[in-house]
Amino acid sequence: MIKFLDLQSQYQSIRPEIDAAIADVILRSSFVGGEDVSEFERGFAAYQGVSHCVGVGNGTDAIEIVLEALALPRGSEVIVPANSFIASSEAVTRAGLRVVFADVDQRTYTLDPADVRRRITAKTSAIVAVHLYGQPCDMDELLAIASAHHLELVEDCAQAHGAEYRGRRVGGLGHAGTFSFYPGKNLGAYGDGGAITTNDPQLAKRCRMIANHGRVDKYNHEFEGRNSRLDGLQAAILRVKLRHLDAWVEHRNEVARSYSEGLAGVGDLVLPTTGANRRHAFHLFVVRSGRRDALAQYLKTQEIQTGVHYPIALPKLSAYAHLEQGREPAFAVASAGTLLSLPMGEHLDGSQVNEVCAAIRAFFAASSQ
Ligand SMILES: *Cc1c(COP(=O)(O)O)cnc(C)c1O
Repeated sequence: MIKFLDLQSQYQSIRPEIDAAIADVILRSSFVGGEDVSEFERGFAAYQGVSHCVGVGNGTDAIEIVLEALALPRGSEVIVPANSFIASSEAVTRAGLRVVFADVDQRTYTLDPADVRRRITAKTSAIVAVHLYGQPCDMDELLAIASAHHLELVEDCAQAHGAEYRGRRVGGLGHAGTFSFYPGKNLGAYGDGGAITTNDPQLAKRCRMIANHGRVDKYNHEFEGRNSRLDGLQAAILRVKLRHLDAWVEHRNEVARSYSEGLAGVGDLVLPTTGANRRHAFHLFVVRSGRRDALAQYLKTQEIQTGVHYPIALPKLSAYAHLEQGREPAFAVASAGTLLSLPMGEHLDGSQVNEVCAAIRAFFAASSQ
């Protein structure tokens, strides 16, 4: 069996470090806040190359809290890519703002700056740039658009820990970045977790207060916030994993290189393209084929797991029927039913990657006869 994701094997590879870290948190009863949280925040800020990191409860809250902290006009419009996980747009609505979907580029699958321009109105206040599959968006273009139209630019980095644009890590390129530590992400906790990164000390302070009941100190509250904190156990686990993250991202890139070599020119496959000046973090390795479902089915018979990210484009979900963007001819890449995610992660060795490539070549060889 070649697994799509293998958290068990990752745990086995770092088990003594993880077990010691967990035991230590329990011995110190350091469950909410405390040294592990502040040390992880410091370490993650350094890793992503930003001055501030605020741990929060999960990656969806991270987006929502940033949007709230930016104090955008109520009901103003926020541009979100049509191809993403629903959290990217859900957070916009939850923050009292209006979602407007824009298309993604069909080579990089990240926000298409030309379509973003077309979607801007007098009510637009922000852009949520999702570094989808681990690839940074075209940030030069998006930053130019944001500055020309006085928009806030928030980076949804839930899939992009370790990704770089022009040699700088994501999360500090726009006004703020948001991360998820959901177990299956490139940097995953053993439960929910998330973080906000920024180089703006005022914004960081406001996010921290919103995430912790608007607290000034224990029972003094400047305003009503909410409870969305990174807990001590998760922070201790993340501190251990952060030491391995760069090697894991590098391994993902090696797997991606092997797939790209082994699958070049096979059938009608469209392989992922990395845009100029980017380090892709390869949270997912997504290919396209007109025979997607048959290919996935065949790989399943060969005991190779795959995924689809995402089966339904966000504007076409019933959750967004009221926006009436679902019938637009746009959003073709996200709606065509051709995207397929191959197994990806630090658990894969060279022979498993070769096996996946050989199975895919066999599928197309058999069907071309
Ligand atoms: C996972 C994910 C999120 C949400 O993160 P949670 O921690 O699960 O709330 C947001 N955006 C994208 C693009 C994601 O993949």
